[in-house]
Amino acid sequence: MARLCEGRVAIVTGAGRGIGREYALMLAEHGAKVVVNDLGGARDGNGADIGPAAEVVAEIKAMGGEAVANGADVSDWEASKAMIDQAVSTFGKLDVLINNAGILRDRMLVNMTEAEWDAVIKVHLKGAFAPAHHAAAYWRDLNKATGESVNGRIINTSSVSGIYGNIGQTNYGAAKMGIAGFSIIASRELRRYGVTVNCIAPGALTRLTEDLGPPVTDERREAMSPRWIAPIAVWLASEESAEVSGRMFEASGQTLAIAEGWHRGPTVKPVSDPTVLGPIVKDMVARARKNAGMDGQDLD
Ligand code: NAP
Repeated sequence: MARLCEGRVAIVTGAGRGIGREYALMLAEHGAKVVVNDLGGARDGNGADIGPAAEVVAEIKAMGGEAVANGADVSDWEASKAMIDQAVSTFGKLDVLINNAGILRDRMLVNMTEAEWDAVIKVHLKGAFAPAHHAAAYWRDLNKATGESVNGRIINTSSVSGIYGNIGQTNYGAAKMGIAGFSIIASRELRRYGVTVNCIAPGALTRLTEDLGPPVTDERREAMSPRWIAPIAVWLASEESAEVSGRMFEASGQTLAIAEGWHRGPTVKPVSDPTVLGPIVKDMVARARKNAGMDGQDLD
């Protein structure tokens, strides 16, 4: 088997279970050395011997790969910096950062608490920003020192809940749509150093989603296995993907697709009098493409 990520060094956040665990395992299968981050249970800050992350590290080592555990809360600024430093001090460099860690606190807008909003925004948005910032600073310094493209990769995690919009998830959807915008901007900023930034909007049965849909059968478990999402992550992590940046990939056991971004639709000249706007706006709305539903197709 050709190995796509031979010798590359990758951090995967939230990799103790679910989708992140599959990323870590497949990256290792393809020759990458992996920092397996997961908050785990008790947090002592040094990242050693932490439950779920340590188990994934053991799995990678058992198949002959190299990995190390990290217990950082990715939304913690200093802990994120230490995680980037750990990759470099352990494996000599960093090539790939996959921001995958996440939580849910679903609630209808009218019932959502401030704490539920803050927790989700913190883990997803700051938890993508903090590691990305520290990794980007590392790559910029490396680029300046060597004058060469660093072939760095940031792969962020969005969701159809955000880019298309799922009821009951204003907090999570706002964070995931925020990550989409963040990724496009970061892809433009970091291109000069040879760093690409892409997003994956995954769909899988994991601890996060198991109790949300219909009953879990063996057939559904296989069709919705998080394993289906790892191939696109591994390809994006590889040097082969250097030309692809600022993209949103939908990935699941059912589909691999590119979700296209916002585009300007019907346009008119600005109007100074709001009383004449009624028919103008109704005509523009009638001519505009409808927003997409959760399947990525135009809503009826
Ligand atoms: P999961 O099985 O619950 O895995 C998420 C992991 O993130 C957990 O292992 C959790 O660790 C870790 N984590 C949470 N907060 C963290 C923090 N502050 N710092 C470090 N690690 C943290 O869920 P998943 O389904 O694999 O989700 C992975 C990503 O995909 C998430 O960003 C999620 O929003 C996104 N996503 C998933 C789906 C889906 O269908 N499953 C759909 C759209 C988007 P501990 O619990 O051990 O602390």
